[in-house]
Amino acid sequence: MGGTTTLLYSEKFLDYNLGQFHPLRPVRVKLTYDLIRSKGLLHEDEIVITLPRVASEEEILLFHEKEYVRLVQKYSDKGSGLLDAGDTPAFKGCFEATSLIVGASLEACDKIMTGKFAHAFNPSGGLHHAHPERASGFCIFNDPAVSINYLRKKYNVNRLLYLDIDAHHGDGVMYGFYNDPSLLDIDFHESGKYLFPGTGFPDEIGKSEAKGLKLNVPLLPGTGDEAYLRAFHALAPEIVRKFRPQIILVQCGADGHMDDRLAHLRLTTNMYQGVVSEMHKLAHELCEGRLLLFGGGGYTLANVPRVWTVAFATLAGKELDNEITEPWSREFRKLTGEEPPTDLHDKPTNDDSNTIGEVDSVLKELASYLAK
Ligand SMILES: [Zn+2]
Ligand SMILES: [Zn+2]
Repeated sequence: MGGTTTLLYSEKFLDYNLGQFHPLRPVRVKLTYDLIRSKGLLHEDEIVITLPRVASEEEILLFHEKEYVRLVQKYSDKGSGLLDAGDTPAFKGCFEATSLIVGASLEACDKIMTGKFAHAFNPSGGLHHAHPERASGFCIFNDPAVSINYLRKKYNVNRLLYLDIDAHHGDGVMYGFYNDPSLLDIDFHESGKYLFPGTGFPDEIGKSEAKGLKLNVPLLPGTGDEAYLRAFHALAPEIVRKFRPQIILVQCGADGHMDDRLAHLRLTTNMYQGVVSEMHKLAHELCEGRLLLFGGGGYTLANVPRVWTVAFATLAGKELDNEITEPWSREFRKLTGEEPPTDLHDKPTNDDSNTIGEVDSVLKELASYLAK
């Protein structure tokens, strides 16, 4: 038996590379792993690395359509082509690279469901935009969605919570399970009025038996920790306790962090620590600690490794000091050509009446749809 928390990692995660000039930089996963290691977390007895496996085609078909999987295989062999309207280019080996990411999430599911570990983090995962029949928003296969169907099929789980705190709406997951009452989906994101994919409004609450189980909280650009955590604590714990999930999945995209290159929120490591800490507490209270964390977006290299290191430490029930070590800073400079961050943690960001008022009114609007 291992400890309580596992980190899925392989240098092969870096093969998910959409091109030299693409905003999704695979090196962020390596920098995260190295930052986690530099903070001594991997020396703790109860924290262990798990090597990912490659998902089988049969497993990918738990969510994706056969025709689309064939297309990915074809473009992957060819090494060119676009898998959506333009954001997600194919590359040589993209089928294998994305199958490994899905496999890492499935391996995490296995580790948790067999009781080997209570908590797992797959920093390469969280590819929440992919749809059954197409790629979208840098995501080829949707590993959270495949994981949800895998957990249901293999482990007969029928009450799952999926929380998505990426700056973008997790449309592939939400629409993939829009009619499905086994999935409670809670999604905080920068409003679709300002950001891709343009969806995820409070009136989208699920259909038929799943009505009331898909909750969207769109946020104004510039929203900080204070308004975010106020909305999160007001909404999530109560509804999660009522739903009583058997496992909790959290897509932890780091692009909500301030100064992200693609999104416009003003969040910091404090928000991520606050949310993961609450979900960790709820997991122990409701489902024997079963909590799977995925990565996701995150396009400013000085932020992503810090966000995910803080999130991972919180998942493992640890607190870290503020130091960024010199060897890691040197490596950061070498791999990115950019200046490394000076502190692990940020100062919390406060909000003005505009962003606070907006989250309050979004929650009111959401409550009115739920009451219908
Ligand atoms: Zn994102
Ligand atoms: Zn724990």
